[in-house]
Amino acid sequence: MSKRTVLVTGGARGIGKGIAQSFLEAGCNVMIADLAQGDGWRYRLATDAEAAATSRELADLGDVRYTPVDVTDAASCAAAVQATLDAFGALDVLVNNAGVVDSGPIEQFTERQWEHIFAVNVKGVFLMTQAALAGLRASADAAIVNTASIAGKRGAPNMAAYCGSKFAVVGITQSFALELAGDGIRVNALCPGMVATAMWQDHLMANRGEAAFEDRMRDLIPLGRPQTVEDMGQAAVYLATAPNVSGVALNVAGAYQMH
Ligand code: NAD
Repeated sequence: MSKRTVLVTGGARGIGKGIAQSFLEAGCNVMIADLAQGDGWRYRLATDAEAAATSRELADLGDVRYTPVDVTDAASCAAAVQATLDAFGALDVLVNNAGVVDSGPIEQFTERQWEHIFAVNVKGVFLMTQAALAGLRASADAAIVNTASIAGKRGAPNMAAYCGSKFAVVGITQSFALELAGDGIRVNALCPGMVATAMWQDHLMANRGEAAFEDRMRDLIPLGRPQTVEDMGQAAVYLATAPNVSGVALNVAGAYQMH
């Protein structure tokens, strides 16, 4: 993969950081794109400072930069793509990984919660892909990896917005795979199982601690442990490199879900 350029949204922390690390280890240039200002959601999202710290931490592995992006905003997506082209002269792999979660009974769920989940998780994939297309078409080896979820394959109570958004990502992935095949652009989805990031620690199992998360996942997951950001990075690199794989939604979930 040497010297392919990869843009990872939501790359400041969590799964996106793991994906950035794996692409750097595979010899790529990486642009981390994330929110500059992490306020305004049910739990704290990433900040400029966090993204800058991640870039510094990963710098020993290769050329990694940071650019701010809000994936719900078309002009911001275009600016992040332009920053990548300015920094590295190319864009070969787009990883649409930015995402937010919220949960709760349908009668208490607000329109604002619903709309923001769809704005980030679904519209964000569309806007970033649209902004990146010219760059990807100019690449001889282009791929898109969308972070969906096992929640994009099976519904869950109190999770209609999140599950609906991730089902949408799987459908978008299949559609883009067909639409962009003629350009030689492969498009796949990564479906993580359960990874101990802010989504779990600060929201879904807030205040219950890492040990409680580990115990619960050991019971639930047939392979006996939660997934890690490294598991996700490895799978993302596979999806971006496999020459004849496109349109799949790959579960990385320790046999917790199989379809
Ligand atoms: P996370 O909260 O640590 O990471 C999400 C990142 O997206 C954050 O850095 C956040 O700042 C960024 N982001 C949010 N809104 C944004 C916006 N408008 N513009 C740009 N960036 C924005 O959580 P994570 O678990 O690392 O999530 C990464 C992806 O993995 C998400 O798409 C999530 O839905 C998916 N996922 C996570 C799990 C899990 O178990 N953690 C499971 C399945 C899927």
